[in-house]
Amino acid sequence: MFDFTLDAAEGSARAGRFTTPHGEIPTPSFMPVGTLGTVKALSMEEVEALGARMVLANTYHLYLRPGHELVRSLGGVHEFSRWRGPMLTDSGGYQVFSLAGTRRIHDDGVEFKSHIDGSAHSFTPEFVMEIQRALGADVVMAFDECPPGGCDRATAERACARTLAWLERCAKRFGELGCEEPGPSQALFPVLQGNVFDDLRDEHARRVRELGEWAGFGIGGLSVGEAKPDMWRTLEVLDDALPTDRPRYLMGVGYPDDLLEAIARGCDLFDCVAPTRNARHGTAWTSEEGQVNLKAARFRDDTGPLDAACDCATCGRYDRAYLRHLVVAGEWLAMRLLSIHNLRFLVRLGEEARSRIGEGSFDGWRRDWLQRYRKEGSRQ
Ligand SMILES: [Zn+2]
Repeated sequence: MFDFTLDAAEGSARAGRFTTPHGEIPTPSFMPVGTLGTVKALSMEEVEALGARMVLANTYHLYLRPGHELVRSLGGVHEFSRWRGPMLTDSGGYQVFSLAGTRRIHDDGVEFKSHIDGSAHSFTPEFVMEIQRALGADVVMAFDECPPGGCDRATAERACARTLAWLERCAKRFGELGCEEPGPSQALFPVLQGNVFDDLRDEHARRVRELGEWAGFGIGGLSVGEAKPDMWRTLEVLDDALPTDRPRYLMGVGYPDDLLEAIARGCDLFDCVAPTRNARHGTAWTSEEGQVNLKAARFRDDTGPLDAACDCATCGRYDRAYLRHLVVAGEWLAMRLLSIHNLRFLVRLGEEARSRIGEGSFDGWRRDWLQRYRKEGSRQ
Protein backbone atom coordinates (compact mmCIF):
# COMPACT_ATOMS: atom_id res chain seq x y z
CA MET A 1 0.00 0.00 0.00
CA PHE A 2 2.94 2.34 0.68
CA ASP A 3 5.73 2.80 -1.78
CA PHE A 4 8.28 5.45 -2.73
CA THR A 5 9.68 5.57 -6.26
CA LEU A 6 12.55 7.84 -7.20
CA ASP A 7 12.01 9.27 -10.68
CA ALA A 8 15.05 11.53 -10.85
CA ALA A 9 17.78 13.07 -8.72
CA GLU A 10 20.08 16.05 -9.10
CA GLY A 11 22.76 16.23 -6.43
CA SER A 12 20.83 15.48 -3.24
CA ALA A 13 17.54 16.84 -4.63
CA ARG A 14 15.02 14.15 -5.49
CA ALA A 15 11.87 13.86 -7.59
CA GLY A 16 9.80 10.94 -6.38
CA ARG A 17 6.32 9.50 -6.01
CA PHE A 18 4.94 8.46 -2.64
CA THR A 19 2.06 5.99 -2.96
CA THR A 20 -0.57 5.74 -0.20
CA PRO A 21 -3.99 4.04 0.04
CA HIS A 22 -5.65 7.36 -0.90
CA GLY A 23 -3.44 8.12 -3.87
CA GLU A 24 -0.03 9.14 -5.04
CA ILE A 25 1.93 12.24 -4.05
CA PRO A 26 4.49 13.50 -6.55
CA THR A 27 7.41 14.89 -4.54
CA PRO A 28 8.77 17.35 -3.54
CA SER A 29 5.39 18.34 -2.18
CA PHE A 30 4.07 20.91 0.26
CA MET A 31 1.20 19.66 2.46
CA PRO A 32 -1.36 22.21 3.69
CA VAL A 33 -2.04 22.05 7.44
CA GLY A 34 -5.63 21.27 8.39
CA THR A 35 -5.25 21.51 12.16
CA LEU A 36 -8.86 20.76 13.07
CA GLY A 37 -9.63 18.75 9.94
CA THR A 38 -9.93 22.01 7.98
CA VAL A 39 -7.36 24.11 6.16
CA LYS A 40 -8.32 27.40 7.76
CA ALA A 41 -10.89 29.44 5.81
CA LEU A 42 -10.89 27.10 2.77
CA SER A 43 -13.21 24.36 1.59
CA MET A 44 -11.77 21.00 0.59
CA GLU A 45 -12.78 21.76 -3.03
CA GLU A 46 -10.57 24.85 -2.91
CA VAL A 47 -7.67 22.91 -1.39
CA GLU A 48 -8.04 20.33 -4.16
CA ALA A 49 -8.25 23.02 -6.84
CA LEU A 50 -4.97 24.63 -5.78
CA GLY A 51 -3.20 21.36 -6.45
CA ALA A 52 -2.51 20.09 -2.90
CA ARG A 53 -2.10 16.31 -2.83
CA MET A 54 -1.76 15.46 0.86
CA VAL A 55 -3.26 17.30 3.83
CA LEU A 56 -2.33 17.24 7.52
CA ALA A 57 -4.61 16.98 10.50
CA ASN A 58 -3.66 17.40 14.13
CA THR A 59 -3.98 14.69 16.77
CA TYR A 60 -3.93 17.01 19.78
CA HIS A 61 -6.65 19.28 18.43
CA LEU A 62 -8.96 16.53 17.09
CA TYR A 63 -8.55 14.52 20.32
CA LEU A 64 -9.77 17.52 22.33
CA ARG A 65 -12.42 18.59 19.84
CA PRO A 66 -14.57 16.86 18.61
CA GLY A 67 -12.85 13.74 20.07
CA HIS A 68 -11.18 10.88 18.20
CA GLU A 69 -13.90 8.35 19.05
CA LEU A 70 -16.54 10.57 17.49
CA VAL A 71 -14.40 10.98 14.36
CA ARG A 72 -13.98 7.19 14.22
CA SER A 73 -17.74 6.65 14.55
CA LEU A 74 -18.28 9.09 11.67
CA GLY A 75 -16.00 7.09 9.39
CA GLY A 76 -12.56 8.53 10.18
CA VAL A 77 -10.97 11.85 9.33
CA HIS A 78 -11.25 11.36 5.55
CA GLU A 79 -14.98 10.73 5.62
CA PHE A 80 -15.52 13.34 8.35
CA SER A 81 -13.71 16.15 6.48
CA ARG A 82 -14.51 14.93 2.93
CA TRP A 83 -10.85 15.14 1.93
CA ARG A 84 -10.41 12.42 -0.69
CA GLY A 85 -6.64 12.39 -1.08
CA PRO A 86 -3.85 11.18 1.22
CA MET A 87 -3.77 12.48 4.80
CA LEU A 88 -1.23 12.55 7.59
CA THR A 89 -1.80 13.10 11.29
CA ASP A 90 0.95 14.42 13.51
CA SER A 91 1.43 12.89 16.96
CA GLY A 92 0.36 15.87 19.03
CA GLY A 93 3.78 15.86 20.67
CA TYR A 94 4.78 19.25 19.33
CA GLN A 95 1.54 20.83 20.62
CA VAL A 96 1.68 19.36 24.12
CA PHE A 97 5.36 20.23 24.47
CA SER A 98 4.50 23.79 23.45
CA LEU A 99 2.11 24.08 26.39
CA ALA A 100 4.91 25.38 28.62
CA GLY A 101 3.89 25.68 32.25
CA THR A 102 0.83 23.45 31.92
CA ARG A 103 2.49 20.15 31.05
CA ARG A 104 4.66 17.60 32.85
CA ILE A 105 6.95 15.24 30.94
CA HIS A 106 8.01 11.88 32.34
CA ASP A 107 9.28 8.64 30.87
CA ASP A 108 5.79 7.25 30.45
CA GLY A 109 4.42 10.25 28.53
CA VAL A 110 3.15 13.79 29.02
CA GLU A 111 0.44 15.16 31.30
CA PHE A 112 -1.09 18.39 30.13
CA LYS A 113 -4.03 20.72 30.46
CA SER A 114 -6.36 21.46 27.58
CA HIS A 115 -5.93 24.95 26.10
CA ILE A 116 -9.73 25.03 25.70
CA ASP A 117 -11.04 24.41 29.22
CA GLY A 118 -8.01 23.58 31.39
CA SER A 119 -9.07 19.94 31.86
CA ALA A 120 -6.29 17.42 32.64
CA HIS A 121 -5.15 14.88 30.01
CA SER A 122 -2.33 12.43 29.49
CA PHE A 123 -0.63 11.28 26.27
CA THR A 124 1.46 8.11 26.23
CA PRO A 125 3.08 6.65 23.10
CA GLU A 126 0.44 3.89 23.10
CA PHE A 127 -2.49 6.26 23.51
CA VAL A 128 -1.24 8.52 20.71
CA MET A 129 -1.19 5.47 18.40
CA GLU A 130 -4.78 4.63 19.46
CA ILE A 131 -5.96 8.18 18.72
CA GLN A 132 -4.30 8.17 15.30
CA ARG A 133 -5.78 4.73 14.56
CA ALA A 134 -9.23 6.13 15.32
CA LEU A 135 -8.63 9.18 13.10
CA GLY A 136 -7.49 6.84 10.32
CA ALA A 137 -5.08 8.99 8.27
CA ASP A 138 -2.76 7.23 5.80
CA VAL A 139 0.43 8.29 7.59
CA VAL A 140 0.68 8.54 11.37
CA MET A 141 3.60 10.00 13.29
CA ALA A 142 5.41 8.51 16.29
CA PHE A 143 5.18 10.34 19.62
CA ASP A 144 8.48 12.13 20.20
CA GLU A 145 10.05 14.65 22.53
CA CYS A 146 10.93 17.86 20.72
CA PRO A 147 13.23 20.02 22.89
CA PRO A 148 13.35 23.77 22.19
CA GLY A 149 15.80 25.17 19.63
CA GLY A 150 19.06 26.28 21.23
CA CYS A 151 18.86 23.61 23.96
CA ASP A 152 22.11 22.25 25.39
CA ARG A 153 23.61 18.93 24.40
CA ALA A 154 22.50 17.07 27.53
CA THR A 155 18.87 18.08 26.90
CA ALA A 156 19.11 16.98 23.26
CA GLU A 157 20.64 13.64 24.33
CA ARG A 158 17.86 13.00 26.84
CA ALA A 159 15.22 13.83 24.22
CA CYS A 160 16.85 11.42 21.74
CA ALA A 161 16.88 8.59 24.29
CA ARG A 162 13.26 9.19 25.27
CA THR A 163 12.15 9.53 21.63
CA LEU A 164 13.82 6.20 20.84
CA ALA A 165 12.19 4.43 23.81
CA TRP A 166 8.81 5.91 22.85
CA LEU A 167 9.30 4.85 19.23
CA GLU A 168 9.63 1.22 20.31
CA ARG A 169 6.41 1.51 22.29
CA CYS A 170 4.64 3.30 19.39
CA ALA A 171 5.72 0.61 16.93
CA LYS A 172 4.53 -2.20 19.22
CA ARG A 173 1.11 -0.64 19.79
CA PHE A 174 0.81 0.36 16.13
CA GLY A 175 1.42 -3.27 15.13
CA GLU A 176 -1.14 -4.58 17.64
CA LEU A 177 -3.80 -2.12 16.48
CA GLY A 178 -3.24 -3.08 12.85
CA CYS A 179 -3.92 -6.74 13.72
CA GLU A 180 -6.67 -6.40 16.33
CA GLU A 181 -9.36 -4.57 14.43
CA PRO A 182 -10.49 -3.98 10.89
CA GLY A 183 -9.50 -0.52 9.82
CA PRO A 184 -7.51 1.62 7.44
CA SER A 185 -4.11 0.68 6.09
CA GLN A 186 -1.65 3.06 7.75
CA ALA A 187 2.10 3.68 7.81
CA LEU A 188 3.99 4.82 10.90
CA PHE A 189 6.80 7.36 10.41
CA PRO A 190 9.39 7.73 13.19
CA VAL A 191 10.47 11.28 14.11
CA LEU A 192 14.19 12.01 14.09
CA GLN A 193 15.59 14.23 16.83
CA GLY A 194 19.06 15.41 17.90
CA ASN A 195 18.73 19.17 17.58
CA VAL A 196 21.72 20.58 15.64
CA PHE A 197 24.37 18.24 17.09
CA ASP A 198 25.76 16.35 14.09
CA ASP A 199 26.92 13.23 15.95
CA LEU A 200 23.62 12.98 17.87
CA ARG A 201 21.66 13.29 14.62
CA ASP A 202 23.77 10.63 12.98
CA GLU A 203 23.57 8.20 15.89
CA HIS A 204 19.84 8.76 16.45
CA ALA A 205 19.07 8.16 12.76
CA ARG A 206 21.13 4.96 12.85
CA ARG A 207 19.38 3.64 15.95
CA VAL A 208 15.94 4.49 14.55
CA ARG A 209 16.78 2.56 11.37
CA GLU A 210 17.81 -0.43 13.48
CA LEU A 211 14.32 -0.52 15.02
CA GLY A 212 12.40 -1.25 11.86
CA GLU A 213 11.71 -1.01 8.14
CA TRP A 214 10.01 2.39 8.11
CA ALA A 215 7.89 3.56 5.16
CA GLY A 216 9.29 7.07 5.61
CA PHE A 217 10.98 9.37 8.11
CA GLY A 218 9.87 12.54 9.88
CA ILE A 219 12.64 15.06 10.49
CA GLY A 220 11.76 16.82 13.75
CA GLY A 221 13.48 19.32 15.99
CA LEU A 222 14.24 21.82 13.23
CA SER A 223 12.68 25.19 12.46
CA VAL A 224 12.35 25.65 16.24
CA GLY A 225 14.54 28.73 16.54
CA GLU A 226 17.99 27.44 15.51
CA ALA A 227 20.21 29.41 13.08
CA LYS A 228 19.53 28.65 9.40
CA PRO A 229 23.10 27.42 8.64
CA ASP A 230 22.68 24.90 11.48
CA MET A 231 19.44 23.64 9.95
CA TRP A 232 21.03 23.22 6.49
CA ARG A 233 24.06 21.39 7.93
CA THR A 234 21.79 19.08 9.94
CA LEU A 235 19.84 18.21 6.78
CA GLU A 236 23.13 17.34 5.06
CA VAL A 237 24.04 15.01 7.93
CA LEU A 238 20.63 13.32 7.63
CA ASP A 239 20.91 13.11 3.85
CA ASP A 240 23.92 10.85 4.40
CA ALA A 241 22.31 8.93 7.28
CA LEU A 242 18.94 8.09 5.69
CA PRO A 243 18.12 5.56 2.96
CA THR A 244 17.41 7.14 -0.43
CA ASP A 245 14.39 4.93 -1.15
CA ARG A 246 12.11 6.34 1.57
CA PRO A 247 10.36 9.73 1.70
CA ARG A 248 11.68 12.32 4.15
CA TYR A 249 9.19 14.68 5.72
CA LEU A 250 10.70 17.89 7.11
CA MET A 251 8.23 18.89 9.79
CA GLY A 252 7.19 22.51 10.20
CA VAL A 253 8.98 23.93 7.14
CA GLY A 254 8.33 26.24 5.58
CA TYR A 255 8.72 29.49 3.93
CA PRO A 256 9.39 29.47 0.16
CA ASP A 257 13.16 29.98 0.41
CA ASP A 258 13.46 27.36 3.18
CA LEU A 259 11.54 24.89 1.03
CA LEU A 260 14.02 25.23 -1.84
CA GLU A 261 17.05 24.97 0.48
CA ALA A 262 15.60 21.79 2.03
CA ILE A 263 14.70 20.25 -1.34
CA ALA A 264 18.32 20.80 -2.38
CA ARG A 265 19.34 18.76 0.69
CA GLY A 266 17.15 15.76 -0.03
CA CYS A 267 13.81 16.51 1.69
CA ASP A 268 10.55 15.45 0.00
CA LEU A 269 7.53 16.47 2.09
CA PHE A 270 6.83 19.68 3.99
CA ASP A 271 4.16 21.33 6.09
CA CYS A 272 3.83 24.70 7.77
CA VAL A 273 1.03 26.95 9.00
CA ALA A 274 2.79 30.02 7.52
CA PRO A 275 0.76 30.24 4.27
CA THR A 276 -2.59 30.51 6.04
CA ARG A 277 -1.30 32.35 9.12
CA ASN A 278 0.45 34.95 6.98
CA ALA A 279 -2.71 35.31 4.91
CA ARG A 280 -4.62 36.23 8.05
CA HIS A 281 -2.09 39.05 8.60
CA GLY A 282 -2.29 40.35 5.04
CA THR A 283 1.09 38.92 4.03
CA ALA A 284 1.67 37.19 0.68
CA TRP A 285 4.60 35.71 -1.24
CA THR A 286 5.48 36.85 -4.73
CA SER A 287 8.10 35.51 -7.13
CA GLU A 288 9.39 38.96 -8.13
CA GLU A 289 9.12 40.95 -4.88
CA GLY A 290 9.55 38.31 -2.16
CA GLN A 291 7.22 38.62 0.81
CA VAL A 292 4.87 41.60 0.68
CA ASN A 293 2.29 43.00 3.07
CA LEU A 294 -0.85 44.13 1.31
CA LYS A 295 -1.39 46.87 3.90
CA ALA A 296 1.43 48.89 2.32
CA ALA A 297 0.18 52.20 0.88
CA ARG A 298 1.90 51.56 -2.46
CA PHE A 299 -0.75 48.92 -3.29
CA ARG A 300 -3.65 51.41 -2.91
CA ASP A 301 -4.14 51.88 -6.64
CA ASP A 302 -2.07 48.95 -7.96
CA THR A 303 -4.17 47.27 -10.65
CA GLY A 304 -1.68 44.45 -11.25
CA PRO A 305 -2.18 40.88 -10.04
CA LEU A 306 -0.66 39.89 -6.70
CA ASP A 307 1.91 37.77 -8.58
CA ALA A 308 1.96 37.90 -12.38
CA ALA A 309 3.66 34.49 -12.51
CA CYS A 310 1.00 32.78 -10.34
CA ASP A 311 -1.80 30.62 -11.76
CA CYS A 312 -4.02 30.62 -8.65
CA ALA A 313 -7.69 31.60 -8.61
CA THR A 314 -6.89 34.81 -6.68
CA CYS A 315 -4.25 36.06 -9.11
CA GLY A 316 -6.42 35.11 -12.08
CA ARG A 317 -9.26 37.40 -11.07
CA TYR A 318 -8.38 40.10 -8.51
CA ASP A 319 -5.90 42.98 -8.42
CA ARG A 320 -3.70 44.28 -5.63
CA ALA A 321 -5.79 47.39 -5.02
CA TYR A 322 -8.88 45.30 -4.27
CA LEU A 323 -6.94 42.79 -2.14
CA ARG A 324 -5.40 45.67 -0.15
CA HIS A 325 -8.87 47.12 0.41
CA LEU A 326 -10.11 43.75 1.76
CA VAL A 327 -7.08 43.39 4.05
CA VAL A 328 -7.32 46.94 5.44
CA ALA A 329 -11.07 46.55 5.99
CA GLY A 330 -10.54 43.21 7.78
CA GLU A 331 -12.85 41.37 5.39
CA TRP A 332 -13.00 37.55 5.65
CA LEU A 333 -12.51 37.30 1.92
CA ALA A 334 -8.99 38.71 2.30
CA MET A 335 -7.95 35.70 4.40
CA ARG A 336 -9.52 33.30 1.92
CA LEU A 337 -8.02 34.84 -1.19
CA LEU A 338 -4.53 35.25 0.31
CA SER A 339 -4.63 31.70 1.75
CA ILE A 340 -5.44 30.33 -1.71
CA HIS A 341 -2.55 32.30 -3.20
CA ASN A 342 0.04 31.48 -0.51
CA LEU A 343 -0.79 27.76 -0.54
CA ARG A 344 -0.71 27.62 -4.34
CA PHE A 345 2.63 29.45 -4.24
CA LEU A 346 4.23 26.67 -2.17
CA VAL A 347 2.47 23.83 -3.98
CA ARG A 348 3.64 25.25 -7.32
CA LEU A 349 7.18 25.68 -5.99
CA GLY A 350 7.22 21.94 -5.24
CA GLU A 351 5.81 21.19 -8.70
CA GLU A 352 8.40 23.33 -10.45
CA ALA A 353 11.26 21.94 -8.34
CA ARG A 354 10.10 18.45 -9.36
CA SER A 355 10.12 19.25 -13.06
CA ARG A 356 13.50 21.03 -12.80
CA ILE A 357 15.03 18.03 -11.02
CA GLY A 358 13.60 15.85 -13.80
CA GLU A 359 15.38 17.87 -16.48
CA GLY A 360 18.57 18.42 -14.47
CA SER A 361 18.22 22.21 -14.19
CA PHE A 362 17.19 22.42 -10.53
CA ASP A 363 20.36 23.83 -9.02
CA GLY A 364 20.76 26.79 -11.38
CA TRP A 365 17.05 27.56 -11.24
CA ARG A 366 17.09 27.42 -7.40
CA ARG A 367 20.02 29.85 -7.18
CA ASP A 368 18.38 32.35 -9.54
CA TRP A 369 15.03 32.01 -7.81
CA LEU A 370 16.49 32.55 -4.33
CA GLN A 371 18.59 35.51 -5.43
CA ARG A 372 15.55 37.24 -6.94
CA TYR A 373 13.24 36.38 -4.04
CA ARG A 374 15.67 37.44 -1.32
CA LYS A 375 16.89 40.62 -3.02
CA GLU A 376 13.38 41.94 -3.53
CA GLY A 377 12.09 40.51 -0.27
CA SER A 378 14.71 42.37 1.77
CA ARG A 379 13.33 45.64 0.41
CA GLN A 380 10.07 45.23 2.33
ZN1 LIG B 1 -1.69 33.58 -6.84
